[in-house]
This record gives sequence, C-alpha cells and structure tokens, in this order.
Amino acid sequence: MTRPQISHVRAGVRHNAHTTRWSPVYNPSTGDVAADVPLADAVDIEACIADAAAAAPAWGARSALDRARVLLRWRELCIAHTEELAAGISREHGKVLADARGELQRGLEVVEFATGIPHLMKGEFSDTVARGIDMYSMRQPLGVTAAITPFNFPAMVPMWMLGPALACGNAVILKPSERNPSTAVRLAELFVEAGGPPGVLNVLHGDAEAVNALCSDPRIQAVSFVGSTPIAQHVYETSARHGKRVQAMGGAKNHLVVLPDADLDMTTTSLMGAAYGSAGERCMAISVAVVVGDATADALVTRLTDQVRALKVGDPLIDGHDMGPLVTAVHRDRIAGYIEDGARAGATLVVDGRTHTATTQKGFYLGGTLFDHVTADMSIYREEIFGPVLCIVRVQSADEALELCNTHQYGNGVAIFTRSGGAAREFAHRVQCGMVGINVPIPVPMAFYSFGGWKASAFGDHNQHGMDGVRFYTRVKTVTTRWPSGADAASFTMPVLR
Ligand code: NAD
Repeated sequence: MTRPQISHVRAGVRHNAHTTRWSPVYNPSTGDVAADVPLADAVDIEACIADAAAAAPAWGARSALDRARVLLRWRELCIAHTEELAAGISREHGKVLADARGELQRGLEVVEFATGIPHLMKGEFSDTVARGIDMYSMRQPLGVTAAITPFNFPAMVPMWMLGPALACGNAVILKPSERNPSTAVRLAELFVEAGGPPGVLNVLHGDAEAVNALCSDPRIQAVSFVGSTPIAQHVYETSARHGKRVQAMGGAKNHLVVLPDADLDMTTTSLMGAAYGSAGERCMAISVAVVVGDATADALVTRLTDQVRALKVGDPLIDGHDMGPLVTAVHRDRIAGYIEDGARAGATLVVDGRTHTATTQKGFYLGGTLFDHVTADMSIYREEIFGPVLCIVRVQSADEALELCNTHQYGNGVAIFTRSGGAAREFAHRVQCGMVGINVPIPVPMAFYSFGGWKASAFGDHNQHGMDGVRFYTRVKTVTTRWPSGADAASFTMPVLR
C-alpha cells in the first residue's frame, strides 16, 4: 500500500512536491511510518518564495482592521477544528490529547492578541516639534517573512509567529519540522477558508536546504526560528549575514530551585507536571531541581519516587495516560544514552525509565527517569536531554543554587519554590534567565507579554509575541511635515533651523 504524501501549501492550495527527496513521518505510538514528507528542492523553494512575494504587497496594503477580521475568523475555525487538530498533533508528536489541546489554546491566545493590531501598530505623533512642523511615525510590514519551527509544538510555536506576522501585514513561509508536518498544512488551509488571500500563508516542507535558502534569499525580509541551539545559532548568523532581521530561540536546561521552606507537596506536584508533561519535550520543561539542604532533598526525592514510578505511559490518544511516546526512535535512544551516561558518571538512578512496562510496546516509549546526587560536571546536567528525565542537584545554600543557574550555558526559564517573599524577590532580581517563576514551575509568559530566553537559549534582539512580536514584524518610518500655509513656520534656510 502506498503511503500518504504530504503536500506543500502555496497560493492557497496543496501542491505536489517537485523534489525527489522524501523523509518518513512516524506515528510514534506504533513506530510505523504514517506518511512521507517532501524535502523541498530548489524548484519547490523558488515557487513558494515567488508566490509569497506576489501576495505580500496587497495583504500589507489592507487596513489593519481588515487583517484582524481574517485572523478572528481563522481563530474561530481553529477552535471549531480543535479535536481534529489536537488528534493530528498527538498522532505525529506523541503528546497526550490534553497537552495537544493545551498547546492549541496557548497558540490561539497569540492570535487573539494579534487581532488587536489596529491598536498595536499605531505610531506616534508630536504636534509642533518646531514652529508649524509636526512629526509622526508609523509601523509598516516587512514583506515576506520565514517561520522555521521545531517538532515539539507543531501548532503553538508556528502561531507565536503567524499571529503577529500576518496581523502586521506580512506574507509568511512556514517551514515546519519534518518530523510532524501535517498540522502546519491544516493551519494554512484553515487560514484560506477564513478569507486569508492565497499566497499570504504558505507551508514549505524541508530540511537544511530549505532553511538555508530562506536564510539567504533576498526576497525574505525576516527569519523567525525556534529549535535547538546549534541550528538557532546557524540560522541567526546566516540570516544576519544576508542582511535580514532575525530572532532565533534555542535550547534550554531549566532549573527549579527548592528552598528549605518550600511547600513540598506543591513542589512535587509542580515538578511532576513540569518535568514529565509532554514527555519532557518542552523547551520550558524543568529538567533540574536544585534542592537546598539534604533534609529537603531527601523528603522531595521520597515524594517524587512514588509518583514517577506511577506515571501512566501509553497511547496518547487514550484518555488517562500522563505521557505518550517520544517523537522518534532516534530521540528515544538518545535519551536512553543520557540515562546510561548519568548512571556511569555516578549519579544515583532512583527510577530508570528504560525499565518501564511501556517500553515493551511497539512505539518509541520510555518511562519517567529520576536521578539524585547529580553534579555540575555530568553530561546529564550540562546538556539538554529533552526527555522525561529529572536530575536532582543537592546544594547547601540559596547562593550556591543561584550560582548554578547563572553559570549554566542556557538561560531560558527558571523557577524558585519558597514561602519567603524576600528570598524569591532577590532570586528573581539576580538570576540570569529570560523567564522566571515564583512557585510557578513553567513560567511561560502570556501572549501579551513576550517569550524569550537569555544566553545560549536565544539569539537576536526581539522575543516572540507580545509587543516584541509587533516590533519584529514591522519597521518604523518617521515623517516630518510642514505645510506652506503656515506663515510663521520654522525656516530651513542656512545656516540654522529657526
Ligand atoms: P531542531 O533544531 O532539530 O529543528 C528545528 C528546525 O530547524 C526544524 O524546522 C528543522 O527542519 C530545522 N533544521 C534541523 N537541522 C537543520 C540544519 N542542519 N540546518 C538548517 N535547519 C535545520 O529542533 P527540534 O529537535 O525540532 O526541536 C527541539 C529543540 O527546540 C530543543 O532544543 C528545544 O529546547 C528547542 N525549543 C526551543 C524553544 C524556545 O522558545 N527557546 C521552544 C521550543 C523548542
């Protein structure tokens, strides 16, 4: 039986690919290949960029209110198709349905924020900057923009970019992860059904060839990227070298600091969701708990151990499972390799996910893993694992905990659990990280704030969504005006402005 072939979307409709290079898309729950995705060649890439470039000017020339109305209809259609979209995400990603619905909702919140674009895009006006002279500024769209996204949020991360990019009047070429490309296709089709003009939102499937073309083609004005740090850095450098505006979000190793006065039941529940939710395949997952004091660490590990062992791992489409499979066999094996490394390096392997009963099923399963007595020199501490593995690092003071957070290469999210307002405030103030939670384990900013890490977790000056999204997807023009009728207007004759 021939497998379904996924299509590019351009000029508002699905297009068969020209390329001869294809990649398998798995159902991680069964391990079967479910479809094949094209890896765009030069012909596919050129057609997509040309369509987007043709559509951009008319979309940018529409009123902001008009574009907002299209986004409102798109939002309604996405909501009406929630179950279809969520099931599609679960089938290709492996996250449980509740997580898939949740990511769709968080993505749509960015679209909701972006529908305020008539207000958000307003410029400034100054009356009488000199006699008879006024000055105003306006924000204008950039043209064609590229959105390059990772596998772990097939709907939410694209929507971080699509909401503001489209609202601001740009055309977008979305290059989704080749591991779960189908959601992007449906989002683009629903945009057209909502009245989005053909060519304004396009989907180009591919790998490095497509990404490198988008980062260098002169018709692309801006590149927004989310993915792993080495690729983020490559995309940032390549796009900047070609004169583009670029924001590139990378990997993470998010710490949760537990002070001795923390509510340990609340901390345990929070850690379970933050470390093992979506099988740890979240850039804001907590993968390290830094616990101050051995008594606190002992009490926390005891609580966590039972709960990690009790995690229900299985088919993400069946209600009642906490965790589904990992996205691919390669990724599952990479995580298993880290577990082996951690045990060899001398960390205490309290719960070994490789022995979970789910691992006997077909599909890319691994149970939750808990390590205690992890130290800063171990690879399981230094590197991003991106799986259901939580490392406990024991320290003796809050300062030592802060120092660990601040010297780690990544600085995406961080959290502190304590009952002390003073300690939490001090920590939030001094920690070198982009997003901070106080008794909140995954401090993902709402759509009307912006999302972005520090250090090796982000490259570029603009965060995702919030006002930074509007700034990223527009450029400012400032106009100075004088009208001949103003008899008393300032003069521009040499040598000075009077
Ligand atoms: P990835 O870097 O492998 O892929 C991201 C995108 O880059 C994909 O579209 C992929 O096709 C493309 N790509 C892959 N290799 C490439 C290459 N050699 N040249 C050019 N393009 C290439 O990331 P992933 O595995 O899909 O996603 C997981 C990573 O994303 C994790 O590191 C996670 O922390 C990170 N992430 C970060 C954030 C954030 O906001 N900081 C959010 C979500 C995920």
